[in-house]
Amino acid sequence: MSELRKHYFLDEYCLIASGRAKRPSAPKACGEDMKAHSCVFCSGHEDKTPPAKAVYKNGEILKDTNEELVKDWQVRCIPNLYPALSPDAPDVEDSGFEVKKGFGYHEVIIESPSHENKINLFSDEEILLLMKVYRDRVMHYQSKEGIEYISLFKNWGKKAGASLEHTHSQLIAVPIIPTSIVKEKKAISELKNCPYCHIIEKEKGKERQIYENDNFILIAPYCSKYQYEMWMLPKKHVNHISAFTDEMLMSLGDCIRTAVKLLDRTIPELAYNYMFFQVDHDPGYHFNVRIAPITSIAAGFEKNTEIYINTIPPEIAVEHLLNPE
Ligand SMILES: [Zn+2]
Ligand SMILES: [Zn+2]
Repeated sequence: MSELRKHYFLDEYCLIASGRAKRPSAPKACGEDMKAHSCVFCSGHEDKTPPAKAVYKNGEILKDTNEELVKDWQVRCIPNLYPALSPDAPDVEDSGFEVKKGFGYHEVIIESPSHENKINLFSDEEILLLMKVYRDRVMHYQSKEGIEYISLFKNWGKKAGASLEHTHSQLIAVPIIPTSIVKEKKAISELKNCPYCHIIEKEKGKERQIYENDNFILIAPYCSKYQYEMWMLPKKHVNHISAFTDEMLMSLGDCIRTAVKLLDRTIPELAYNYMFFQVDHDPGYHFNVRIAPITSIAAGFEKNTEIYINTIPPEIAVEHLLNPE
């Protein structure tokens, strides 16, 4: 069962997806049990996952081929075996409350054929290809009828919600615009200028800047909710990854890889999530990616107030990230 249930009276949704309870439990960090011989994401085990939706080989997407069994791939996109949403979701029963059927798509992007590889070790070629895959797959699902928003994210580590150790990202295409995005869009529309462009102006070259390259800037946001939280922003105002040139994709990949490298150097094996924020139909939105490391759990106060307690100020976090002991 998969249902998008609306809050009793607020514009907020929860996704009730009981089928996902069957998914494998997360392995221990670097546990022996998920090493290459049993990992379904490893190259050579293509027959152990649902048939692929897209396979990338020699830097190109393969079409019109028996994709599910293609060998020597670089990136492989498969439907999630335990989808949170599905294209053939059954109609919902009348519950007396507002609910939408759980229509949507849930894809897993296996980022590398190798079990040992991880994003901070990716070559330029690998990271650029992954960003191109992100662009392709987001555009693919964005064009589907009934889809309003694409959530693209990566969970790394058990504490971040990853149920398999092999490096992968996920994409969930949903039939609504999430409340958080609606709120943010509204706040932006009431301002004269883009607030993200303003953030870049204010933070560039200052104490909370962590890194920059030709097209992106990486900062520890002034209002960091999480320890070592990082935001990456394109210097040029762009609302969506579909408008990115390959140079911008390379800069974005370099920025993500750098952020993860710095995090891993500061606290080895730290679990994290990164999430893409973008709105295709609103040119006023400013694309951004946020990394939320997992160093604590949201407890009573956070759940009660949505005010997060962060004991490492971002200014100190930057020092830790840039000057390892
Ligand atoms: Zn593997
Ligand atoms: Zn902007």
